[in-house]
Amino acid sequence: MEILIQSFYLISGVLFIMGLRGMSHPESARRGMFYAEFGMLLAIVGTLLQQEIVTYDWIIVGLVLGSIAGLAMGLWVPMTAMPQRTAFSHAFGAAAASLVGVSEYYRHGGLLDHFTMSAIGFEVLLGSLTTTGSLIACGKLQGILPGKPLVFKGQNVFNMALLAVTVACFVGLFALPHATGLFYLMIGLALIFGVLLVIPIGSADMPVVMSLLNSYAGLASAATVFAINNKVLIIAGTLDGFSGFILSILMCKAMNRSITNVLFGAFGSVSDHATAAQTGEMKEISIDDAAVQLAYARQVVFVPGYGMATAQAQHALRELSDVLEERGVTVKFAIHPVAGRMPGHMNVLLAEANVPYSQLFELEQINPDFQSTDVAVVVGANDVVNPDARDKPSSPIAGMPILEVDHAKLAIVLKRGKGRGFSGLENPLFFKEKTAMLYGDAKDSISHLVQAVTKL
Ligand code: NAP
Repeated sequence: MEILIQSFYLISGVLFIMGLRGMSHPESARRGMFYAEFGMLLAIVGTLLQQEIVTYDWIIVGLVLGSIAGLAMGLWVPMTAMPQRTAFSHAFGAAAASLVGVSEYYRHGGLLDHFTMSAIGFEVLLGSLTTTGSLIACGKLQGILPGKPLVFKGQNVFNMALLAVTVACFVGLFALPHATGLFYLMIGLALIFGVLLVIPIGSADMPVVMSLLNSYAGLASAATVFAINNKVLIIAGTLDGFSGFILSILMCKAMNRSITNVLFGAFGSVSDHATAAQTGEMKEISIDDAAVQLAYARQVVFVPGYGMATAQAQHALRELSDVLEERGVTVKFAIHPVAGRMPGHMNVLLAEANVPYSQLFELEQINPDFQSTDVAVVVGANDVVNPDARDKPSSPIAGMPILEVDHAKLAIVLKRGKGRGFSGLENPLFFKEKTAMLYGDAKDSISHLVQAVTKL
């Protein structure tokens, strides 16, 4: 039986790695998800075969409750709410890892060797701060808590001091594992630190923070292995920990920010000067005029952003792309690495609408193409096409690579009104000579465009 269980764990470890590999490209992402899911199933079955299990009663209750919650979330949580849903799941994953650590500590009455104590301490410390941090992130993304950074004077110094005291408790426990008071004090401080870590971070940076918290939850789970001796946890936990960390760094790179700037920079609390209203006029374009521009273009590039996700306009966009291609127009889709609210957000939505991968172009590939593009259609994107990031060194998003739609012969921007991007900044693109605004919900505007182009 032991050999069977360990084989299940080994196969599931391999499947997790294949899953991550698969998810590195949109074409293989579904297959990757399937591998990872199957790997998780094997890990669960292997664990259920453990001989140490005395009774299955509570396990069955947990399985049923967890499955109902998972099914409900999978069926009813909309794609646009995926970031907060993920934060919510992280909070529970981290809480589970912490509780395993607490129960192990309690079970042994603190009589642990130094090595096991440090593993449990690490698990509980990271798990606790991840639990509250993820709950705050979820609240901010869902709009239950204010999205803008909550800051106070001396915040970074206070947070660092709190972290230092928490780590001191951890070190104290290593020396004196039976110091129960210190153990629970460390948990309390870590829970408070999780809250304080996330409140000064604006919602726009929340995906980076979440991926970092994900990484902490993974490392906390990996540490659990020393407490409960479950080998698959070390594989899954370290994969989760390091992939989350690499993802955070990649996201920061795509926004041209450092991880310390994200964590301590209170991004999103932009100055009044930076958010000052742009002078000039925005030009409007009618559906019919926009349709003519598109229908008689040689090349059209669609630039989707968060607005496409909220409008669920991806299917209508695919339809418009098909109609234009039938007329001989070359159609491309430009994908910015941080468009939307989570990595790969646009890829997922466009894949759902069956847009062929050959039509998707990354930032470096498509930017040189804008010069020869007749019409660039910005579909609910804002920050990722803000020329200030390139042209204005004092802008809070200075240095963030952008899709250079202002180099196209005409840029048509689809948005509902004068709403700003997630950074809260004004966008000079909308006031440029070669830009025309098409106001309305992106899905409605695109559906009208399809009808108008078809009639031409
Ligand atoms: P954005 O800057 O948030 O702008 C979205 C625009 O869509 C808004 O200006 C809004 O204007 C419009 N909009 C909203 N609903 C709409 C609808 N139903 N129909 C039409 N338009 C609609 O989006 P983005 O350009 O995709 O930029 C993403 C932002 O998130 C960046 O600041 C990025 O740094 C940040 N971020 C993303 C990630 C990630 O992983 N993707 C990670 C970290 C940070 P109206 O209100 O006027 O319609």
